[in-house]
Amino acid sequence: MAEITLNHVYKKYEGGVTAVQDFTLEIPDKEFVIFVGPSGCGKSTTLRMIAGLESISEGELLIDGERMNEVESCNRNIAMVFQSYALYPHMTVFENIAYSMKLKKVPKKEIKERVHEVAQILKIEEILDRKPGQLSGGQKQRVAMGRAIVRHPKVFLMDEPLSNLDAKLRTQMRIEIMRLYKELQTTFIYVTHDQTEAMTLGTRIVVMKDGIIQQVDTPQRLYDFPANRFVAGFIGSPQMNFISGICRVKKTGVFLETADCEVQITDGRKERLRNEGYDGKQVTMGVRPEHVKVWSPEESEVSDLVLQSQVSVYEMLGAEAYLYFTYEGQQVSARVKADTKIRKEDKVFFGFDTKDMILFDFETEEAIY
Ligand code: ADP
Repeated sequence: MAEITLNHVYKKYEGGVTAVQDFTLEIPDKEFVIFVGPSGCGKSTTLRMIAGLESISEGELLIDGERMNEVESCNRNIAMVFQSYALYPHMTVFENIAYSMKLKKVPKKEIKERVHEVAQILKIEEILDRKPGQLSGGQKQRVAMGRAIVRHPKVFLMDEPLSNLDAKLRTQMRIEIMRLYKELQTTFIYVTHDQTEAMTLGTRIVVMKDGIIQQVDTPQRLYDFPANRFVAGFIGSPQMNFISGICRVKKTGVFLETADCEVQITDGRKERLRNEGYDGKQVTMGVRPEHVKVWSPEESEVSDLVLQSQVSVYEMLGAEAYLYFTYEGQQVSARVKADTKIRKEDKVFFGFDTKDMILFDFETEEAIY
């Protein structure tokens, strides 16, 4: 059992940096939570405060309902795997994994059994006699995890554990981590700056920016219903396109106007736009590349919004193609079928349907649903 609660947690470093602000989150037992966000947004600091490697400036950390703020790291029953692996270079893999048990004076026989059990789970039985210098990146990563698992911790904390591995190995290790999670049935908290890693691993994702939580949600909901423009742009690759428009509330309905066209909003958002004083105000329209439709001037219109541009980049990826163009100073990308006849420099129409569009307040950048 390990339920983690953070109540209004702050980290203020000496010299005035507030690395984490008002972080409030409940992590139920056995959940796999990801902290994701750009470099410097406070992910590691939060993880280190949970681990007890960093003091908490304000707020409270509870594990299974017990206040942990003053509890030493070694008494929190938490294991942490670092990006750097932090293995002891002069010790063998066996000794590295056994080290914490040796310190606790666990009987030799039991140490041996537990190391072998962990080695079996991680498939590293063959390399127990080697030293870290003789291991590949992936093997070092497994040993680092072995060292954490062997202690039977209540919580696993992982800080960018795969960022030193090449892309192929990273994908492989992601699958390994999921397998491990299912097998160990423990709470996992995993830090990464890579949104793909976050989307594929987490059951719940905490998106952070400038020390502040932006949204906590499942991968699918983050993608479909981002809370604000930052989350919308951060989750998804290529990133969501943003086009600005002016809201016009008329007797005949609520419209969004761009340099090229006007489109009517007929769903529930029209009430918000009408009632919350958006008339005459700038709003941002967000649309994912897979929802952008592109067609040549000879073809007829295929979407609610109809804009014009010229293709600046054509990228063929085999199963699909990407088209990039600029509209009113903003880069736009479209994911289209591989058999498209459209190429670089072609003049095109493009657009999207209002049902696929997410609206954002231009000033607050909050989504309008
Ligand atoms: P992330 O893990 O998201 O990359 P960090 O948690 O490492 O971000 O850092 C958050 C912010 O706190 C950054 O602005 C960083 O420069 C600052 N920071 C981290 N450690 C210290 C420290 N020991 N002293 C002062 N500032 C720090």
